[in-house]
Amino acid sequence: MKPAAFTYHRAHDVTDAVGLLTDLAAAGEDPKLIAGGQSLMPMMNFRLARPSALVDLGPLRRMPSMTALDAEAGTLTLGALVTHHAVETATLPDGFAVLARAMRWVGHLPIRSRGTVAGSLVHGDATAEWCLLALLLDAVVVTEGPSGRREIPADELFHGFYATAVEPDEVVVEVRFTRPAPHAALSEFARRHGDFAIVDAAVALDLDGDVTPEQVSGGRVVLGGVAPAPVRVPEAEAVLAAGGAPGPELFAAVADAAAAAIDPPNDPQVTAAYRRRLTRTLVADACAQAAGGPR
Ligand SMILES: Cc1cc2nc3c(=O)[nH]c(=O)nc-3n(C[C@H](O)[C@H](O)[C@H](O)COP(=O)(O)OP(=O)(O)OC[C@H]3O[C@@H](n4cnc5c(N)ncnc54)[C@H](O)[C@@H]3O)c2cc1C
Repeated sequence: MKPAAFTYHRAHDVTDAVGLLTDLAAAGEDPKLIAGGQSLMPMMNFRLARPSALVDLGPLRRMPSMTALDAEAGTLTLGALVTHHAVETATLPDGFAVLARAMRWVGHLPIRSRGTVAGSLVHGDATAEWCLLALLLDAVVVTEGPSGRREIPADELFHGFYATAVEPDEVVVEVRFTRPAPHAALSEFARRHGDFAIVDAAVALDLDGDVTPEQVSGGRVVLGGVAPAPVRVPEAEAVLAAGGAPGPELFAAVADAAAAAIDPPNDPQVTAAYRRRLTRTLVADACAQAAGGPR
């Protein structure tokens, strides 16, 4: 399939991109930004998306801030055009290595070499690894729009099925990850390597190293593929907060709580019961990996 007809516009900087989006919309067009094109182009080729104008962010790659990975005071800031592969191959500061490890689950190398952090978050697929990681590590999405700069915390970002709080006339300029998690992991199940996950689970454990043996004192559990958007699971996090020794017994209790708390979709391809079973397995697996040592 080929996309419906569209006009093509190259943005030279962020102000230019915002201006193009605003002017095209005022002229009755339906413009869309394109970054790596790894989600938008397939959707256009299948005619699931029919923007009448594309505003290409490609030229903004020469702006250092758009491709930078900066760490400062427990925060990791990624420019909007940082690719999945750049993260996969970076040496990330303490507490953020889970981001690099999770990238191997994202598509294949050509997709990871072109697809961007911001593109993935704005696309808002409920199983996208970046969407889960944003909730796990308290990401803040920074946008520029006609009314200026705006910061959107991850827990306000996802509005449902492929819907986010980023407005059509806003450009994401950076994503800040503000919650380092040295004991964290993402686990998932897909039919074939490189496919989107059916269900994925990201877990961060708070380990109290002042006591011997080390005890779990809290943590975070995030799931994809069980609701229209990625979700935290307070019921499973409550089990972690109650504490205990990091081991199969505690992790099975966390996994059971997560599986019991969700109301996953039931479709002809994948039943709700199967998604629930996957959830139990993947949460326990992510817990075990997360407890495996500081990363
Ligand atoms: C075969 C295949 C397998 C894949 N498997 C996976 C997978 O397993 N896991 C996964 O997470 N992803 C997967 N992807 C998707 C891939 O990760 C995409 O790169 C990503 O979802 C979108 O990033 P992009 O830069 O390509 O965005 P684009 O496709 O260019 O854009 C996506 C959306 O984001 C908007 N956008 C892009 N940049 C900005 C910005 N800076 N500000 C505001 N809006 C913006 C666009 O307007 C568009 O709506 C797969 C893709 C393919 C083709």
